[in-house]
Amino acid sequence: MRSKLTTIRLARHYGFCMGVTRAIRIALRTGEDKVGPVNVIHDIVHNDTVVKDLAERNVGRVVSVADAPGGTIIVPAHGAPLALFEEAQRRGLEIIDATCPLVIKIQRIVRRLIDDGYQIIHFGDLHHDETRAVVGQAPEGRMVVIHDLRELQTVRNIDRKMALTSQTTADAVEFARISREAARLFPGIIVCDTICNATGQRQKAVLELAPEVDLMLIVGSHSSANSKRLRDISRTVCRAAYLINSAGEIDPAWLDDVVSVGVTAGASTPDVLAEEVVDWLVAYSGGTAEVIRPDRRDDETIEMIEPASE
Ligand code: SF4
Repeated sequence: MRSKLTTIRLARHYGFCMGVTRAIRIALRTGEDKVGPVNVIHDIVHNDTVVKDLAERNVGRVVSVADAPGGTIIVPAHGAPLALFEEAQRRGLEIIDATCPLVIKIQRIVRRLIDDGYQIIHFGDLHHDETRAVVGQAPEGRMVVIHDLRELQTVRNIDRKMALTSQTTADAVEFARISREAARLFPGIIVCDTICNATGQRQKAVLELAPEVDLMLIVGSHSSANSKRLRDISRTVCRAAYLINSAGEIDPAWLDDVVSVGVTAGASTPDVLAEEVVDWLVAYSGGTAEVIRPDRRDDETIEMIEPASE
């Protein structure tokens, strides 16, 4: 069938955020500098291409401190619970901390709230590395993770001051709804909006772009929370949206009767993967589709501070 595709539009904000760029740089430099084994705890960022690329450059991956063969471990952009740092120190491993400064900020907020006697409700995914790391800053029982409004309604006030925080990659619209309900259920609750700027910008850019196109393609790993969120948000305002690892996962059937396609990518997706998707679409159109690229400038300013080495 002859392609009807005439327009490919990229989101205003997409792809690597500063925290991811910083973590990858730290990992690459550590791989070059260290003589012994270098391993990241889990994934440096949630993207298979990045993880494979690092593995080819002397930076492996382990699932726990116990699995590390010695040498150096790198704490990924999502951070790690305090217990992991303690275990690595006990084992005499060198720790390079590539936690994103914005995740460190949430961890500090959580520790301060705990010290001040608060019970914390955290809006996030309990299975996500960042949330596990944030929860790992608080003593047992002082922090409850909720995934949605329904779970919020099951939380009981245990006679403490209450505070609400959020995963950096949470849906901003949903967090606003959760905040309103939390204020109703727990008058006086402190709301800390800890959704990061890069996440907010990528979500806003999708909300601008998705209603204008027939199909949205979100390039990102299926394990990437912020990429999945971009797909879910797209689906609320666009008739079809798919999350794909790479151009190889595009199903041509998705493009039947499609005139315009929007392309975005999660904060952990290398640009090259988004560009390959654009190239695939141009080729599919027979080389005739126009590619529209808005001025792409992130506002986020994360200082490229040096990682802590312990
Ligand atoms: S999405 Fe935000 S919090 Fe996560 S690594 Fe990027 S800048 Fe940091």
